[in-house]
Amino acid sequence: MNTIYLDNNATTQVAEDVLEAMLPYFRELYGNPSSMHSFGGQVGQKIRIAREQVAALLGALPEEIIFTSCGTESDNAAIRSALATRPDKKHIITSRVEHPAIHALCAQLATQGYRITELPVDKNGLLDLENLEKNLTPDTAVVSLMWGNNETGVIFPVEKAAQMAHEKGVLFHTDAVQSAGKIPINMKNNVIDMLSISGHKLHAPKGIGILYVRRGTRFSPFLIGGHQEKGRRGGTENTPSIIGLGKACELADKNMQKENTEVKRLRDKLEKELLKRIPQSRVNGDTVNRLPNTTNISFEYVEGEAILLLMNELGICASSGSACTSGSLQPSHVLRAMGVPFTMAHGSIRFSLSIYNTEKEIDFVIDKMPAIIERLRGMSPYWNTAQSSCASK
Ligand code: PLP
Repeated sequence: MNTIYLDNNATTQVAEDVLEAMLPYFRELYGNPSSMHSFGGQVGQKIRIAREQVAALLGALPEEIIFTSCGTESDNAAIRSALATRPDKKHIITSRVEHPAIHALCAQLATQGYRITELPVDKNGLLDLENLEKNLTPDTAVVSLMWGNNETGVIFPVEKAAQMAHEKGVLFHTDAVQSAGKIPINMKNNVIDMLSISGHKLHAPKGIGILYVRRGTRFSPFLIGGHQEKGRRGGTENTPSIIGLGKACELADKNMQKENTEVKRLRDKLEKELLKRIPQSRVNGDTVNRLPNTTNISFEYVEGEAILLLMNELGICASSGSACTSGSLQPSHVLRAMGVPFTMAHGSIRFSLSIYNTEKEIDFVIDKMPAIIERLRGMSPYWNTAQSSCASK
């Protein structure tokens, strides 16, 4: 059975060219880039090139790139640095739909005396920037808003939000883990101070990320140790993964157009056909301000987990919008924040595509999904009750 992988917001396959670029750094080029000898020094030279490749994808300067171990570390490092460099300020603004890398960190900071404002979103997952303006105070240290949402793909106007934060002298961080490589990012055109990226979302390996820190922004390291990354992140460099991420960023730049034409076309086709063929289904999230590869669709009166199991039997991989918490299925905090009705939120599936998906795969999914939903609805007491009450009206 072939695997049809439509879960690229969870992780992506490592590009062949990325793997090829990495292999020598496991085998013959294993030196420590900090060593005095040229055996290690030559690796340091390759890291410089990788830093330039990452910077090029972001329109940044190479010295603004700090290699980290993942998106989560980058997010944590950004917030903690903002608080450490502004110790008199105790307020953080974020949103209700952030990834746990920000959400859970803020929850912990709340227990340590910080005041957290989580901005609400509307039913389409969009932010009201006036609300941001109202909540900025002289005590605000940092605003952290994600660029693209991992569950719905909804894009926040982070460049405008950064401008507003700056006007009040507040630092701005964005979690760009899902948007890097999918939509153009040019740090020359905005005032965002810090930005996080994760390698495994753009065809580099897991366990590598970057934190962009704008030149001139004060930074307090999260990991204290050696002098690596100019003292901004201690720890011997993950050389193969850094080289891989550099290559992945170069490829992402080249594939950006394909992402926004071909991938988007396949996503739109999948979405349109599923909505057409499956009654009582709907898209969660704004369909205009959205990443080109993501669609989050609710199928009313069925459980997302059950849908995933039947999809899995056919080799189709996706994610659901609910998570098992203490034995019961809870809709995700993102769908709850958007006020998605209970019967819809439970049956939500996130399909996230990549440049490796084909038309044939999408056609297969379009062909198979209606029967899956029909079969589950046939077993759903909620669906049967809803149908009989409709018929009696
Ligand atoms: N931020 C967002 C929006 C994500 O989607 C993810 C991963 O799913 C992360 C942060 C965390 O990245 P990592 O898995 O590299 O820690």
